[in-house]
Amino acid sequence: MVNETSPNINKKYIVEILRNLIKTKPINPPGQEEEAALIIKEELEKLGAKTTLDYVKPKRPNVIGIFDEEEDKGTTLLFNGHTDVVPPGPNWTIDPFEGIVKDGKVYGRGAVDMLGGLAATLGAIKTVIDSGYEFKGRLLYTAVIAEETGGDGAIKLMEDGIKADYAYVSEPSDLEIRIAERGLIWFKIKCIGEAAHASTPHLGINAIEVLTKALLAIKDIKYDYEPHEFLGYHTFNIGLIKGGVKTNIVAPECEATIDIRTPPSLSFKTVEEKIRNVLRSFEEIYGAKFDLQVIATADPFELDKNSEIVRFTCKAFKEALDMEPRIGGMLGATDGRFFVKAGIPTVILGPGPEDNAHKADEYVEIDSLVKLAKIYTQIILKTLT
Ligand SMILES: [Zn+2]
Repeated sequence: MVNETSPNINKKYIVEILRNLIKTKPINPPGQEEEAALIIKEELEKLGAKTTLDYVKPKRPNVIGIFDEEEDKGTTLLFNGHTDVVPPGPNWTIDPFEGIVKDGKVYGRGAVDMLGGLAATLGAIKTVIDSGYEFKGRLLYTAVIAEETGGDGAIKLMEDGIKADYAYVSEPSDLEIRIAERGLIWFKIKCIGEAAHASTPHLGINAIEVLTKALLAIKDIKYDYEPHEFLGYHTFNIGLIKGGVKTNIVAPECEATIDIRTPPSLSFKTVEEKIRNVLRSFEEIYGAKFDLQVIATADPFELDKNSEIVRFTCKAFKEALDMEPRIGGMLGATDGRFFVKAGIPTVILGPGPEDNAHKADEYVEIDSLVKLAKIYTQIILKTLT
């Protein structure tokens, strides 16, 4: 039987699975998750799970593993991660898809975001299974596609009505227990001015100029809300801007996209209303026309600090690592939001370094994978055995 205070984590197993996943190059876009999904399916089956491959899109399956099908008996615990990784991008000094192991780190695109979390979770399940425990409830392991492009994989899980009492998403969090997440709202703003000869700009309306001023006014909007304990204030970013025709023409059109991240106390409705007010006043002042569109949203969420999942996660953390956990919030959006929306209390807890995600020479600390597996092992033992 496993010693509950120091479970025997198979570090080699976790590292090997992670390396194999990195080597499959599950880049999205375009969405090459199939081979990674097949590796996970095989590992889940070796551990005794009943598995399903659910093709959400051609060649792009979610993997669902179910351990001990006793749905109505005891707790259902769900571990989720995404198999897709962002494209490698420039400036790598090593092969992003070789899975190089060096100085206690595994390098490669997706190492920390979040193939490492998927591998560490398998490591935790293996520890429990190899120790001979039998689950009293049900353990679900889901590896979904397309998190990096909007969450189609997780959305499909929800559409199919997946049920659980508690969920964990092993996105990189530097082993911080994240119990809240910012939302996001993206807008496309188009400004329509009036062309004129550049030598007589007063005869036209320069859409680039007007939109630029409007964007800065939107950035300066004051919203009335209290900063969130873990998520702080909202953020604003102008991500794209394009406009104009030629150097000697007063720009007749310009459009931009902006990204606003919000704590739960700042509603999307309020944000949109305030932006519309700014644009209306700019229309009056400059005679330009604006078109505002919401192009994407992701809901924020927060759990009660005293809720059951937070309490037993903290307890499992202390027992696994013999130290006090840090509790915090997730500044970026994760698939966790879909689970929360479906009524499943969800915690984000994963390896680090978190700030390495999406960068060149991405890596994950092997030590943080082992620690994560220890914590997840304790969580499984606490809830399912
Ligand atoms: Zn991720």
